[in-house]
Amino acid sequence: MSTVPTIPLNNGRSIPQLGFGVWQVPDEEVTSAVGHALATGYRSVDTAAIYGNEKGTGQAIAASGLPREELFITTKAWKQGHDTVLREFDASLERLGLEYVDLYLLHWPMPAHDLYVESWRALERIHAEGRARSIGVSNFLPEHLDRLLEQATVVPAINQIELHPQFPQQASREYHRAHGIVTEAWSPLGQGKGLLDHPTLGELATKHGRSPAQVVLRWHLQLGHVVIPKSVTPARIEENFAVFDFTLDDADLKTLDSLDEDRRLGSHPATMNDM
Ligand code: NAD
Repeated sequence: MSTVPTIPLNNGRSIPQLGFGVWQVPDEEVTSAVGHALATGYRSVDTAAIYGNEKGTGQAIAASGLPREELFITTKAWKQGHDTVLREFDASLERLGLEYVDLYLLHWPMPAHDLYVESWRALERIHAEGRARSIGVSNFLPEHLDRLLEQATVVPAINQIELHPQFPQQASREYHRAHGIVTEAWSPLGQGKGLLDHPTLGELATKHGRSPAQVVLRWHLQLGHVVIPKSVTPARIEENFAVFDFTLDDADLKTLDSLDEDRRLGSHPATMNDM
């Protein structure tokens, strides 16, 4: 059994606070990466239809021999429209080789298409059928959530957003807290670019005898975020998991808060419409 704490969701279920992300890992490589993560103790895996690696991820899950109920598998809908999402979900389950996922997310709001409310109805249906134990969104700004909440029957359990010390997303985090939505951080390590080389982070890492990546993951965990760091390097997969035996103090957390540069690495949700 893993040592990872769980975070309660607004539907009575829970999610492991640390999971394994597989964006940009080719299908041929993902089976060994996920296999190593599961052997290390990760029980949560974050994939998406658009990543093109659901098949290899499913192969790693099957090969692990772990009981299905010990795992927490997330995938995401890219294309939108009610019936399109229903079809896409079936295809994802088929590729994963699973009967259900633990979390299904609407990947981006893509506001120019104006389809996210009707797409959410498809997620609600999949949820009602028990084929996604929890449903949520990703990359939704508070304005998108406002609109969704006006019309939704099910409040999203999670919003998965870009979030790291250089882009701390204060407004979204407060919005989520006020509405019972868990914040899940994508690119929690800032994609390994820049952030991990920051001298201030280096000083904190030295102070704790840990790596910069481990210190950043502690910042997330102590703020209550769910994190899904990605690596294909076995030693880093293990390093990113070994973050439950030290604690940052309040001064350390404040120091990390000071790294805020409002530095977005990915697309802006208001303008990303590439369906
Ligand atoms: P990340 O912040 O997890 O950084 C990953 C990179 O950091 C690695 O490729 C490697 O270069 C480096 N790295 C990892 N561990 C390290 C370590 N211990 N020491 C030094 N360097 C290390 O970035 P990410 O992959 O963009 O995000 C994580 C996951 O979030 C993705 O795999 C995916 O599952 C999810 N994600 C979701 C969305 C979305 O739109 N919902 C977008 C991007 C990513």
